[in-house]
Amino acid sequence: MSSNLIRTIFLAFIIFLIISGIFTLFTNPKKGPETITLSDLVGQVNQENIKKITINGDELKIDFKNDRAQAKAIKESGISLAELLEKYGADPNKIQTINFDIEEPKQWGVWLSYIVPLALPFILIGLILWGLTRFNKKGPMEAFSFGQSKIKMQDPKDTKNRTTFDDVAGLREAKEELKEVVDFLKKPEKFNALGALIPRGILLTGPAGVGKTLLAKAIAGEAGVPFFYISGSEFVEMFVGVGASRVRHAFQTARKNAPSILFIDELDAIGRHRGAGLGGGHDEREQTLNQILVEMDGFEPKSAVIVLAATNRPDVLDPALLRPGRFDRQAVLDKPDIEDREAILKIHIRKKPMSRNVDVTDIAHRTVGFSGADLANLINEAAILAVKHNRKTIGQKELRESIEKVMLGPERKSHILSKPEKEITAYHEAAHALVASNLPESDPVQKISIVSRGMAAGYTLKMPDSDKYLHTKTEFLSDLATLLAGRQAEEMIFNTLTTGGTNDIKEATGLARRLVTRYGMSDRLGPLTYGDHEELVFLGKDLHEERNYSDQTAKLIDEEVKRFISDAAATAKKILQDKRQKLNQIANLLIKKETIEKEEFQKIIAE
Ligand code: ADP
Repeated sequence: MSSNLIRTIFLAFIIFLIISGIFTLFTNPKKGPETITLSDLVGQVNQENIKKITINGDELKIDFKNDRAQAKAIKESGISLAELLEKYGADPNKIQTINFDIEEPKQWGVWLSYIVPLALPFILIGLILWGLTRFNKKGPMEAFSFGQSKIKMQDPKDTKNRTTFDDVAGLREAKEELKEVVDFLKKPEKFNALGALIPRGILLTGPAGVGKTLLAKAIAGEAGVPFFYISGSEFVEMFVGVGASRVRHAFQTARKNAPSILFIDELDAIGRHRGAGLGGGHDEREQTLNQILVEMDGFEPKSAVIVLAATNRPDVLDPALLRPGRFDRQAVLDKPDIEDREAILKIHIRKKPMSRNVDVTDIAHRTVGFSGADLANLINEAAILAVKHNRKTIGQKELRESIEKVMLGPERKSHILSKPEKEITAYHEAAHALVASNLPESDPVQKISIVSRGMAAGYTLKMPDSDKYLHTKTEFLSDLATLLAGRQAEEMIFNTLTTGGTNDIKEATGLARRLVTRYGMSDRLGPLTYGDHEELVFLGKDLHEERNYSDQTAKLIDEEVKRFISDAAATAKKILQDKRQKLNQIANLLIKKETIEKEEFQKIIAE
């Protein structure tokens, strides 16, 4: 039972106590005067002790002539007091000396005493139901709101938290493409008057964290319209039909608030190729997807709702989604280049206290391949580090340290290596770095460390100095040799092999296979792609590869992969043998210092 439910029941209980308290107050008037019997009263009348009798319904209040305190009595109903007294033998003459007073009975009190006990159960039930709906949105009442989407909204009136284009760095082409959407949302009439058709659906594609959601929010912010957000995965529930009904609800909400933006994140979670799933054609996802298509087709031409959807897998989307009138426009968002990284960093440090020595350009240089989200994360990590270091501002040191944390996971200083482990790891990492620095087109070594981070015992950080969009065969061959160098060193120096190289060989094998089957870089197999890589829809994994080549070719592929690997191993071995001196030097320095930075490493290599 949730704590909310307990709270509601407790509340209802307290209210029940209060009501019954009030109830008792009216039904049992407070203990005051003593009650006397009618015969006692008659006796007192005959003794002429009574000054006044106040009649209130059937209740009598008796005031005495002597000092006796007020008493009360109850008379029979339906008969007058005088008659009653006479009937009980009171002297009529003496009755006449008494002062009678008649008080209006308190009607509402009587009514209340009837109504409260009747209404109480209803009030209680009502209270409990109210409590459930109010406090317990996620509780049993959810059963009634199944088909409603858990749509979230950003209010256009909330100017303080509004996202605008100023909050989005880079993404120039996408912004340009979407500016007219902003104009349309601001003044739909202008476009409608000229019969200009504005796209209803725009697909934002790009890797995770490049700012798809951010850009969609910024469009809403710029146009000053409500922004409705829902993720594709939220449509998919255990029960068939729920997804479709949620889609309907989401579109309805957006339409009701037009002009508005409806943003569907992770469109690929629902919009994959229909019919490609296992288990029949009419699964839940298909119904949901169909409903999206129906809703998009059902838009009135003039309705000012723009549907933006985000995906990092446009290739797996159902083609029906991309037809005219649906998501017929695409804006591609790329990972930021060096200039954009600098701009993103600047946006994220705006509200943070930074030291004067901070050099954003340097950080942008060192973060090749980072997405906007990674950079935002980096600044946050740096802020956390600054707190740890007891500093008032965030400095360059914190920023640099955070780069590695974002890339490789947190340092695990507690993960202490034994002496032989430390030696092996040092030689392993030194070998990676040494081989990389001796091969053409290899990315420069930025840092070598034997402090464990994430899952790795040690690491060698290589990163290009500038953005790269093309890769060469030479570069790949150098990478292969670099990957195998660690293992070669273990064999050469310690005459053993450890599990430290497990990940290296996995990566190397993958790379070698891609060289042969995808990049067409094997001379023996020529410029062909081998195998059709298709994903299994419901697992979303590259599980199944259609083999479109003969067994003979398969054998050739295996041979070529193996040849790439053994050549690379030989290259690495040769370098390590030739530069044994340097290898020892780097490894010993690593054992002593645990971490070597780029500058120091380059000095050793240049010597
Ligand atoms: P996506 O939807 O593409 O996965 P998000 O839009 O959710 O990525 O981005 C996550 C966060 O990363 C944003 O909230 C923002 O802080 C940061 N970010 C990403 N791209 C940019 C950018 N171009 N400019 C500024 N911040 C960005």
